[in-house]
Amino acid sequence: MSFSASVKNELARVTSGKVCCQRAEFAAFLRMGGNIRIGGKRQISILVNTENAATTRKYFKLAKDLFCVEAEISVYRKQKLRKNQVFGLYLPPQPKIKKILQLLGIENEDALWGMGQDDAALNKVLAKVVKKDCCVRAYLRGAFMGGGSITNPEGSYHLELVCTDVAHQKYLVNLMQVFDLNPKTGTRKDQLLIYLKEAEKIIDFLNVIGAHQALLDFENTRIVKEIRNNVNRLVNCETANVNKIVDTGMRQVIAVRIIEQYLGLANLSPNLKETAELRLEYPEASLKEIGEMLTPTLGKSGVNHRMRRLEEIAEDLQKSKAKTNPKASRHRAKNTH
Ligand SMILES: [Zn+2]
Repeated sequence: MSFSASVKNELARVTSGKVCCQRAEFAAFLRMGGNIRIGGKRQISILVNTENAATTRKYFKLAKDLFCVEAEISVYRKQKLRKNQVFGLYLPPQPKIKKILQLLGIENEDALWGMGQDDAALNKVLAKVVKKDCCVRAYLRGAFMGGGSITNPEGSYHLELVCTDVAHQKYLVNLMQVFDLNPKTGTRKDQLLIYLKEAEKIIDFLNVIGAHQALLDFENTRIVKEIRNNVNRLVNCETANVNKIVDTGMRQVIAVRIIEQYLGLANLSPNLKETAELRLEYPEASLKEIGEMLTPTLGKSGVNHRMRRLEEIAEDLQKSKAKTNPKASRHRAKNTH
C-alpha cells in the first residue's frame, strides 16, 4: 500500500465529534474532488471519485448522517488495463441535494458557472462553512482526502493538494498559513498545486489534519534515514582522510626513493635517515604513527617537519638532476655514434 493510501485509511477513521467540523470536512472533500453534473430537466447530481475505498465509505456515511441524502457507492476501473480500482460516491438528483450544494455556494444552476471565479465570492461562501477555528483542521483534512497525496518518506519529502481553481488555492494557502506551514504553489500540466517539501512542515500538516499514526511513521522513517545518511557521511569522511594520508605517504615515499637514488640515505642526518627508512617501510602510516615508532618518539608536527625537509632535499636533487640531465643525454647521444 502506498504511503498516501495508508494516511487516507487512517484519516478515514478520524472524524470530529462536532457537526460544524463534519460539515466543513465534507465541503472541502467535495470541493476538491467532486464533479457536479447537470442532467435532463436541469437535475443536479454529484460524483466524487477516489482510489481509496475507506475514504469513499467515510463520506458516504457523512452524507447520510449530515444531510440524510440518498447516496450510492460504485466501484469500477478507470481504464480497462489499469489495476487500480476507482470508488465513486454518487449523490443522485434529489431535493435534499440543495443543502449540499449550498455548502459549495451553489444556490442555483447559474451559480455553477461562476464557481471559483472570484476570491470574494468564494470567501463569502466558505465563511459559512469554516465557521469556527475548530473547523479549519477539519476543512484541511477534507481537502487532503479529496485532492491530496503524500510520497513515501523513504524517498524525497512531498505532500501536495491539487486544487480546482485559483481562488480555492489561495483560500487553502491562507488556511495552511494559520499553522505557519508556508506552503508553495505551482502548476503541473493543467493542475494547480499546493505543496510542502520540508519534512518539518509535512509533519506539522499531518498533525493538523489528525493523521497521528502517519506522523509517527513519517518521523521514524526520517530518523532512520538521517542516521543512515550520517553514517554514510562519516564513512565518506574517513575514506577521504585515509586517501589524504595515503597520498601524502606516497609523495613522501617517492621523495625518499629519490634521495636514496641520488644521494643515498646514509648521507642524511641520523634523524632524517631514521624517518626516511620508516616511511619506506610503512608507506600508509600516519605521521603520528611514524612519530611513535621513532627513537626517541616524536610528535606529529615534528615528524611533519622532517618529512618536509626530506621532500625539499628530494626536490633539490631533482632540480640538479634536471640541470645535469641534458649533458648526460648529449653524452649518451655522442656515445651511440
Ligand atoms: Zn468546527
